[in-house]
Amino acid sequence: MNVRRICVLRCKSLLNSKYLRSSQIVGVRKLTSPSGSSPKVCIVGGGPAGFYTAQHLLKSHLDIRVDLFERLPVPFGLNVINTFTQTALHERCNFFGNVSVGKDVSVAELRQAYHAVVLSYGAEGNRHLGIPGEDLRGVYSAKDFVGWYNGLPGNKELRPDLSSETAVVLGQGNVALDVARILLSPLDILKKTDITQPSLEALAGSRVQRVLIVGRRGPLQVACTIKELREMVNLPGTMADMVTADFEGVASVLKDLSRPRKRLTELLLKAAQGGTSGQVGAPRQWGFRFLRSPLEILPADDLTSAAGIRLAVNVLEGSHEGARAVPTGEVEELKCGMVISSIGYRSLCIDPVVPFDQHKAVIPNTVGRVRPGAGLYCSGWVKRGPTGVIATTMNDSFDTARSLLQDLEAGVIDASSVKPGSRAVLSSLESRGVKWVSFSDWEKIDKEEVRRGQRIGKPREKILDVAEMLRVAHS
Ligand code: NAP
Repeated sequence: MNVRRICVLRCKSLLNSKYLRSSQIVGVRKLTSPSGSSPKVCIVGGGPAGFYTAQHLLKSHLDIRVDLFERLPVPFGLNVINTFTQTALHERCNFFGNVSVGKDVSVAELRQAYHAVVLSYGAEGNRHLGIPGEDLRGVYSAKDFVGWYNGLPGNKELRPDLSSETAVVLGQGNVALDVARILLSPLDILKKTDITQPSLEALAGSRVQRVLIVGRRGPLQVACTIKELREMVNLPGTMADMVTADFEGVASVLKDLSRPRKRLTELLLKAAQGGTSGQVGAPRQWGFRFLRSPLEILPADDLTSAAGIRLAVNVLEGSHEGARAVPTGEVEELKCGMVISSIGYRSLCIDPVVPFDQHKAVIPNTVGRVRPGAGLYCSGWVKRGPTGVIATTMNDSFDTARSLLQDLEAGVIDASSVKPGSRAVLSSLESRGVKWVSFSDWEKIDKEEVRRGQRIGKPREKILDVAEMLRVAHS
């Protein structure tokens, strides 16, 4: 279970043509402006959305130049590595890491320097529970927890308290399952991954034996997908602990479900009936709890740490995926010293000049065009919200790239003017003392991380400190 590498394989398989709709296969263009200069595009965000957008632009237009700016010194966000290396190494593509757009350089400056700017910076924020007790010790956002074990520099100080026997994860999406799986994975499995050494050591001393994954709706509304559920179900040393009554009537509606939902529900039913892996008596348990909404995280006697959670008991109104949770007025309490909120991510506004819908937490757009005619685009989670698997992001980013190419071809983007591109931006960054990281600098970090990993029998040991990354990058 190599966290990064699993995603590499996933992404590679997605690049197979079966995922490409025929409408996505567009002709290759060469559209040099009358001035002879190439169209210059800047992409903000070095995660899957940014790279898929870049990949499609470079493939479909023989002259376009693409620069990618990423806040972290490392490309590909949390998990995806190698898949996009080919794009990053493309002769018409440049990667500039450790550049925070909105802070080190403004969107207005980027728009002056490039013919078009694509915002693909993802969802950096969390949805908050908005309930009492959210600030108690032992309560974490899934985003911070995932960042901690994945080696994100901003989360290295999290040091979660793993001393309680029961952990509650709020939300039933794929992130909730990732978190539950890491909390319950046997150490031997974790040791073979690129999880950071401090996280590994903390998890080695963990007393968590039981993870309850709590959702406000029912078994037919879980937000996870089958692959992630299967990984949970098959995790060695664990067994499912479900409430049989929660599944009453579920088998009888299977025939009405869409195929993916049907397969997911069948696996869920099998796990609930204890018929998945024969791990009866396993030392660690996990289970879904349904129809429960968080009301309050309850403090321990010291009033500073979490000791439990109060949940509202719901009933469902409506049916299937659109059903709504309605509180019955009944309340229930669960004892737990750790609560991880995994109710979804939230995109943030990085620059006030960019239109932003605070309610939906997305940049309003029409097929990726933010302001028609203004050379400003968006793709990925900041465009459509933090939903969907990597294939969704790929299709969505290709759509945005197509909008941009159409605008170039139609002359909506004025490519006749000569734009300075990275030359202007890098000179501003230099004057502001920003030490950016190129792709070959990142390759040095990569090599050093792999070297450090090999010394301790791991695929990689990530560098957790930005200053150290920069030292290695610029050595
Ligand atoms: P998600 O899939 O949107 O799931 C959020 C969960 O939180 C849902 O169960 C939702 O319940 C619940 N929720 C939302 N607001 C709530 C509230 N106020 N109170 C209680 N529960 C609430 O989000 P995610 O798990 O963070 O994942 C984000 C995206 O990343 C997803 O598209 C996911 O598939 C993707 N992802 C993919 C992978 C992978 O491909 N392996 C791994 C990780 C993440 P309702 O359904 O009732 O709203």
